[in-house]
Amino acid sequence: MSESATSGVREMTVASAFGGMRSVSPVVFKAGCPDCRGRFELAASAFRLAIGATSRTTFYSFTCPECGASVRKPAGERIVELLTGGGVSTLRLHSTL
Ligand SMILES: [Zn+2]
Repeated sequence: MSESATSGVREMTVASAFGGMRSVSPVVFKAGCPDCRGRFELAASAFRLAIGATSRTTFYSFTCPECGASVRKPAGERIVELLTGGGVSTLRLHSTL
């Protein structure tokens, strides 16, 4: 038998740190272009997120502001959470929900 002490200190700290600044600055995401190797920050409105039935068909896309290439990258769970939380328009490719 082992006793484990859990505390909610960390959760409270995060909540208070981000609670008051939610709508102050526009949400931007760092992105990179595999074509021209440019690195830049894009607003949430520049991204499209497509959620498929599996992680293999879940991806996000954007247009490179430097060379104009259409970039598509796979989106893992954390990326999906980040993008949807940031207001990126989401397209659901499956209709099971
Ligand atoms: Zn580019």
